[in-house]
Amino acid sequence: MGTEPFNSFLVNRDNLSMKVIHPGSTIGVFGSGQLGRMFAIEARKMGYRVHTFSPDTDTPTGQVADVETSGDYVDLEKVETFAKSVDVVTFEFENVPSSTIETAGKFCEVHPNGSVLHTTQNRLREKQFLSSNGYPVAPFRHVRSIEELRDAVSELGCPSILKTAGFGYDGKGQSKINSPSDAEEALAGIGDSEAVLEGFIDFEKEVSVVCARSNKGEFAHYGVIENSHLDHILDVSFVPAAVSERCYSEATEIARTLAEQFNYVGTLCIEFFVTSDEDLIINEIAPRPHNSGHLTFGPAITSQFEQQVRATCGLPLGSTEFTSAAVAMANLLGDVWASGEPLWTEALFDQRIKFHLYGKTNPRPKRKMGHITAAGNDVKEVVELVRNARKRLIPTT
Ligand code: AMP
Repeated sequence: MGTEPFNSFLVNRDNLSMKVIHPGSTIGVFGSGQLGRMFAIEARKMGYRVHTFSPDTDTPTGQVADVETSGDYVDLEKVETFAKSVDVVTFEFENVPSSTIETAGKFCEVHPNGSVLHTTQNRLREKQFLSSNGYPVAPFRHVRSIEELRDAVSELGCPSILKTAGFGYDGKGQSKINSPSDAEEALAGIGDSEAVLEGFIDFEKEVSVVCARSNKGEFAHYGVIENSHLDHILDVSFVPAAVSERCYSEATEIARTLAEQFNYVGTLCIEFFVTSDEDLIINEIAPRPHNSGHLTFGPAITSQFEQQVRATCGLPLGSTEFTSAAVAMANLLGDVWASGEPLWTEALFDQRIKFHLYGKTNPRPKRKMGHITAAGNDVKEVVELVRNARKRLIPTT
C-alpha cells in the first residue's frame, strides 16, 4: 500500500495542527439508534468515552456507551448539562432540532455544523439548496395546500411522489400520486403537512457515496455503493457498483464538492438515482453515517463510524480501502423474526457471513434489527451469499 489513503485527498501536512480531542475524552452523541451504537463501538475501541442523549432508555447506543442520558431534545437545560459534561458533540440522527444543536454549540464543538443539519433535515430546504447550487435533483414543487398540490401535479405530471418536508425517512411520510384524483388522499396520507411534490424518476438503479471530511480538509470516500430497496427501505447494498467510470467519478466528485461546500466535518452520505443514460440525480443527503455504509464496518480498513470518530476528534482520516474485491450487506428487518427466533446457526455455518445485531428487543415488522455482511472476490457471489444466509435465518415451519 502507498503512503496516501485510498480514494482520498490530503491537504498540506502543515495544516495538521488544529485542535485534537485526545483518546480518553468524552464524545457526546445526539440520538441513540444503531448508527450511534456502531459509532460508540469504534469510539470505545479507540479509547474514547461516549455519552448518548435521546428521549429513550436502554437504547442500541446506550447499551454500549459509557453514559446514557434520557431527555427531550427541546429540554435545553438538560442539553446544556449534557454539553458541559462532554468534550465534543456529534449526532447519529439528523432530526435533532436546531435549538438543541445551537445550545450544545455554546459549550463545546459540534460536528458536523448546525447549518448543514438545518439544510438537510428538511427536504424542501435541501432541494432548494441543491438546485440553486446547480446540483442535479428531481423536479420539485413546494406544497402547502390542496390547491398548490393540484397545480404542482399538473405541472410535474403523473406519477409523482408527495413527501413531507420534514422528518421523513425510509419512505415514511411519502405518497405516490398516480393520477390527479389521488391528490387529496395523498395529502391526507402524509398528515396534511408542508410537503414537496417530486417528479417520479424512472431510474435504472440507486447508488450512494459514503465519504468523510476532516477539519483540515482531508476528504475520503468508499467509492460508489449500489443499493436495492424493498418497500422504500434499503434491502441490500454492495460494492463495487455496476456503474461506468464517468458515473463513478461524477458521483464521488459531487460528494467531494458538497462536503467542501458544507465545510463538513464527519461522515456524510449522498444517495443518488442513476438513469438509463447513467446520469445522476441526488435523492437525499444524510449528514451522518448511513445504512449503505454498514458494509464498511469490518470489510474496510477504516469503517464509516471510525471516520466519524476521527473527524469529530480532529484526527486524520483512515484508509477507506476494502480488504476484499467485493462486499455485500443485507439488512435484517423485524420481519425476519416473524416466525420465531432466526436460525442463526443455519446462516452462520458459512464462515464468510458476519452478523451484527443492534440490541433491539422488539422485532417489529420493517424495524431495522441488524445486518449481515459477506466479503469475497466476486460481487454477484457475495450478494447471493448475504441473500441466501438471510433466507436461511427464517424458520420454514
Ligand atoms: P426517500 O425516503 O426519499 O429516500 O425515498 C425512499 C425510496 O423511495 C427511494 O430510495 C426510492 O426507491 C423511492 N423514491 C423516492 N423518491 C423517488 C422519486 N422521485 N422517483 C422515484 N422513486 C423515488
